Amino acid sequence: MEKIKMITPIAELDGDEMTRVLWQWIKEILIEPFVELKTEYYDLSLVNREATKDAVTLEAAQAIERLGVGVKCATITPNKQRMTEYSLTRMWKSPNGTIRAALDGTVFRAPVMVSGISPLVPSWTSPIIVARHAYGDVYKDVESVCPKGSKAELVITDEKGAETRYLVASYDKSGGVALGMHNLDSSIRSFAKSCFNYALSVKKDLWFSSKDTISAVYDHRFKEIFQEEFDANYKEAFEKAGITYFYTLIDDAVARVIRSKGGFIWACKNYDGDVMSDMLATAFGSLAMMTSVLVSPTGKYEFEAAHGTVTRHYYKYLAGEETSTNPIATIFAWTGAFKKRGEADGLPSLVRFGEELEKASVAVIEEGFMTGDLKAIFRKEGVESIALTTKQFLLKIAEKLAQAI
Ligand code: NAP
Ligand code: MG
Repeated sequence: MEKIKMITPIAELDGDEMTRVLWQWIKEILIEPFVELKTEYYDLSLVNREATKDAVTLEAAQAIERLGVGVKCATITPNKQRMTEYSLTRMWKSPNGTIRAALDGTVFRAPVMVSGISPLVPSWTSPIIVARHAYGDVYKDVESVCPKGSKAELVITDEKGAETRYLVASYDKSGGVALGMHNLDSSIRSFAKSCFNYALSVKKDLWFSSKDTISAVYDHRFKEIFQEEFDANYKEAFEKAGITYFYTLIDDAVARVIRSKGGFIWACKNYDGDVMSDMLATAFGSLAMMTSVLVSPTGKYEFEAAHGTVTRHYYKYLAGEETSTNPIATIFAWTGAFKKRGEADGLPSLVRFGEELEKASVAVIEEGFMTGDLKAIFRKEGVESIALTTKQFLLKIAEKLAQAI
């Protein structure tokens, strides 16, 4: 069989611990036998981030910007304990945060669905993809204790030094607390653009929700910018693609989400997205089945698994034990990248490879072969579930893939 050829490379960002092991196996067992893989390789392991003083992370972000498509393995975000474990000279920042900031991107989280692992909400037959605006609001706020007898004011000083003051509260009867938070039109606009681009790319309806009835200036600004962007730059493309953009109050969105069949993108403000993405991940069954894609406002894509480096499994692996770590989200990061790369380069065979690898992965689980984490939640009439080691599971998928390709 002739291997599928690529044109433009994919930015490949390697990572840490168990997912670094999976990374290598996925390439060896599922990709390299079928594709003449072309990547620009960046080693984002903590060891190499330390060795390069984290320059490698920024270089990788630039490569995604330049090449348009990247795929990333999970990486350690250092904490105190990791400082000692890896003899770090600095507590390097989360690579995901660095890359997101460099690309000014928005993260979309989408579950992989298989029959036999049912969402907790039975009506959800298609994935619900959550987009979280990852800038500002309460995550970049200023907070203060306000003693009894004090008052809190909001003061806006313009370029010339003229002040406008708003009384927030007088603490006459009791002390209390206050916070100041902000957002930027430019960031909201980038968020809106990423959402519209992604919706067009996956051909799914886009919902956006906020609390503009109560927050008539702050949240209203988000609603306004989304509408402006849509009307000016996306309306026609949405009509052509047969998808819709729809704004609704967050309360209404929550009610509609629960009653829905799924199959749409839900764009959320920072805090709503933080909470709702965790709720949806749990409701869809398993973190190991959750994929994540970072989309920049100019349409550059970075695909990854939503989970971390699965540390506990890694220590078992180092001790020589076989583990049953779920590779699905990492496989789907690669398939997402192949599909996007194939589309951009006009390579239908690469797009098809991505699709067939996804189908084979899902089919193997639906036939009853899976990793241990899934066995615990898999229920399907007439199908007995069998827990495999990671390697056995990957080989099963490869066997099925070879039949399809
Ligand atoms: P984690 O690696 O996602 O693992 C949490 C637990 O979830 C695991 O111990 C495991 O449970 C289960 N799990 C997650 N993925 C699994 C998979 N593919 N297959 C089977 N079970 C899976 O999160 P963490 O333990 O909080 O973080 C570990 C490291 O990852 C940290 O250093 C953190 O900084 C990093 N991290 C990176 C990213 C990223 O790069 N995007 C995201 C999150 C965390 P059992 O142990 O019970 O089997
Ligand atoms: Mg959260």
